[in-house]
Amino acid sequence: MPDFDLVILGAGPAGTAAAMQARRLGLTAALVDKAEFPRPKLCGGLVTGRCAAHLAEIFGIGITPDLFETRRNFEFHLHDQLLGTLEDVPPLHLTMRWDFDHRLLQEALAAGAADYTGHRVETHDLAAGRLTLASGETLAYRLLIAADGVQSPTAKALFGQPFSQNTIGFALEIEGPSQAPTEATPIRIDFAAANWGYGWSFPKKQSTTIGLGGLHARNPQMKAHLAAYLAKLGTGQTAKVKGHFLPFGAPKPIPGKGNVLLVGDAAGLVDPITGEGIGHAIHSGALAARAAKIALDQGDTGRALPLYTTATKPIRRAIAQARMLRPLIFSKPLQPFFARTFAGSTTLKRDYMHLLSGDMEYPALLRRTALRLPRAAFRYLSAAASGN
Ligand SMILES: Cc1cc2nc3c(=O)[nH]c(=O)nc-3n(C[C@H](O)[C@H](O)[C@H](O)COP(=O)(O)OP(=O)(O)OC[C@H]3O[C@@H](n4cnc5c(N)ncnc54)[C@H](O)[C@@H]3O)c2cc1C
Repeated sequence: MPDFDLVILGAGPAGTAAAMQARRLGLTAALVDKAEFPRPKLCGGLVTGRCAAHLAEIFGIGITPDLFETRRNFEFHLHDQLLGTLEDVPPLHLTMRWDFDHRLLQEALAAGAADYTGHRVETHDLAAGRLTLASGETLAYRLLIAADGVQSPTAKALFGQPFSQNTIGFALEIEGPSQAPTEATPIRIDFAAANWGYGWSFPKKQSTTIGLGGLHARNPQMKAHLAAYLAKLGTGQTAKVKGHFLPFGAPKPIPGKGNVLLVGDAAGLVDPITGEGIGHAIHSGALAARAAKIALDQGDTGRALPLYTTATKPIRRAIAQARMLRPLIFSKPLQPFFARTFAGSTTLKRDYMHLLSGDMEYPALLRRTALRLPRAAFRYLSAAASGN
C-alpha cells in the first residue's frame, strides 16, 4: 500500500501549495482530487499583490503574460452613484482559474508530489489514516491536509457541517463577452449590488468575468440581483450563470482535528470585504506543510495542528478585523456615510487599493477609516462590532 507523510485532498491553490512546500521540505506527498485537470473553478481570478508574493515564494511563479493580465485603473460604484475612479494604482492581476490551477498542479507534480487527480475517494478512514480511491487503490498517510474547498467533505466529517448557514457567502458569476480590454481598462466594483456584498466586472482578453456575491442568508433573491446588475452594465444574460458558496468572514477557530489540517476555503480563509481567497489558500497550504514537517521530525503528528493553528492566527485576525469594518461598507444604515466618506476621499480609495495590493493590512486601514468617519457612524460601527 502506498504510504505517504502527507495525503493532500484537493489540488486547488491550497492543496498544490501544501504539496510544493512539503516536497521542498523533503516530505512525501500525494495530491488527490476528484477532478481531472484542467478543471473549471468559479472565481473572479483577481490576484492581489499579497497573493502574487505567495505565488512567487511558494511556486516560483511570476506575473507573466501567459497567465496574467495586469490592471491599474479602478471604478467604484454604489447603487447609481459613481463613487470615484482611480488611475495608476498598485497593479492587480487577472487570471483564468482553468489555466492558473492547472499550472500550479504542474508545478507541484514537477516537485515530486504523487498524482492522484481524477480519482474519487470511495472510503476514508480518518482514524486509521487511510483512504481508498474509486480505482480500488488505498493510500496511507501520517497527516492529512484537507484542501477540499468550501464544501469540504473532510470538514463535514470532522465537525458535522463544512460551514455555518448563518455566515456563509454565495456568489453568482458569468463569463460575458470580452470588450478587448487594454491595461487601462478599469476593473469595476459595485458596492451594494448584493445585500452585504458587492458586484464586480473584471475585463479580460478572453471574456469579461461579471459576478456578485454576499452573505447567503441575506440574499434570497441573488438571481434577481444578478439580472439587475447585468442590465445596469448593459450586458445581456447570454452566458450560463453559475453559483458557488464562499466562506465570508467565518474562519474555523481551530482549523482541523487530530492529524487533519484544513487549509484554504476548507478552513474558511476568505476576506469578508474583498472576497480574496486565493492568496490565503496558498499561504495556509504552505503553513500546513511546514507545521507537518516539524511535527513529523519530532515524531509527534499531534503537534502539527497546534503549530498550524498558531501559524495561521494572523490570517484569522485579519479576517476578524475585516469583519469589524464590514458593516461600514455593507450595512444599509451606514451606506450614506460610507458613500460620502469614500467618494470624498482619494486617500481612502487609495488605502483600499493598498489593502488589495498587500501594501497595507487591516489594522492601518481600520485606524485611518476611523479618523475619517463622522462620530455617529463610528458609534454605530463600534456597536455593530460588539454585537449590540
Ligand atoms: C464566484 C467567486 C469569485 C471569487 N473570486 C475571487 C477572486 O477574484 N480572487 C480571489 O482571491 N478569490 C476569489 N474567490 C475565492 C477563491 O476562489 C477561493 O478562495 C480559492 O479557490 C480557495 O482555494 P482552495 O484551494 O482552498 O479551494 P478550491 O480552489 O475550491 O479547490 C478545492 C479542490 O478540492 C477538490 N475536491 C472537492 N471535494 C473533493 C473530494 N471529495 N475529493 C477530492 N477532491 C475534492 C475540488 O475538485 C477542487 O479542485 C472567489 C470565489 C467565488 C465563489
